[in-house]
Amino acid sequence: MTPTLSPPTAGIVLRGLVKSFTGPNGPVHAVRGVDITIAAGETVALLGPNGAGKSTTIDMLLGLTKPDAGDVHLFGMTPKEAIAHGAIGAMLQTGAVLSDLSVRELLDMMGSLYPHPLSVDETLELAGIRDLADRKTTKLSGGQTQRVRFAVAMVSNPDLLALDEPTVAMDVEGRHQFWASMRAFTSRGKTVLFATHYLEEADAYADRIILMARGEVVADGPSTEIKAAAGGRTIRGTLPGADLAALAALDGVRSVDQRGDSITLDCTDSDSAVRALLHEFPGVRDLEITGAGLEAAFLQLTGDNDADGTDARTTTGRNTTARNDGVPA
Ligand code: ADP
Repeated sequence: MTPTLSPPTAGIVLRGLVKSFTGPNGPVHAVRGVDITIAAGETVALLGPNGAGKSTTIDMLLGLTKPDAGDVHLFGMTPKEAIAHGAIGAMLQTGAVLSDLSVRELLDMMGSLYPHPLSVDETLELAGIRDLADRKTTKLSGGQTQRVRFAVAMVSNPDLLALDEPTVAMDVEGRHQFWASMRAFTSRGKTVLFATHYLEEADAYADRIILMARGEVVADGPSTEIKAAAGGRTIRGTLPGADLAALAALDGVRSVDQRGDSITLDCTDSDSAVRALLHEFPGVRDLEITGAGLEAAFLQLTGDNDADGTDARTTTGRNTTARNDGVPA
């Protein structure tokens, strides 16, 4: 094969994806120009609140939804070609598992549709469901059904697994086992893209997090980088009679909150902020600096303080709060 300057064979390339739907109140812009490139072997979380466009993006990646604009290359193939080659395994939120078969029979049948399937025993082992092999698919709990779906997604021995909210019906133990299975799969050099709104799952299991909000990618990087991008440190201390406006104006401070004698500074740059604080307010004591969790980064970067689309950056709303508007959020 002749090498090209930007070979789309490298992995997963989503370019300029746009998709709108017709809703009851007019058009819904589900995905508004998404560019994502994923190298082979990466485990990537697509993180975002409900309605961010994660499922629509995954559906376009799988060729289940036709984009209004943009294109998808999966290891140099179209989604249709990649799926026919068994290169893609998918686990979606919905979709029935065939009934009247045992789990073993189901995996055997699904595997036979592909050119290079895993053996049924290897798939059962990888998915951690050997004990379910002879169970009828009609006799599975919600969490067990999810794990069987995971096995079905892996039986073609795909290079890419695309998973939409994979652990949604699982209890804590089920989740734990699921992620252990996933690690076994990714240790084979496979590529995984999973959508989730569980911040801790994205943080714990992905090499990289792509944060989506309102149909756009708002951050993309290792979770440590995403936390840093949000500024992400808080300084707490005791300062009786604090001058809130003066505190908010300090270098590296985004906003200030006061409860009694306690102050909390939300910082874009905590190193500068603590130096400025000690210089300007030498009486401050009990200083404590904490890093923001992914949750804080998520709220900050998406501007969502919950799933209803309210803008968290402008809703501090207490008269004991001051903001330093000179610092970009
Ligand atoms: P997420 O997976 O992040 O929760 P989705 O991709 O499911 O987000 O949805 C993005 C937006 O598109 C939402 O506002 C959703 O209601 C809308 N949407 C998704 N699918 C359809 C559809 N088939 N018809 C109309 N609107 C849709």
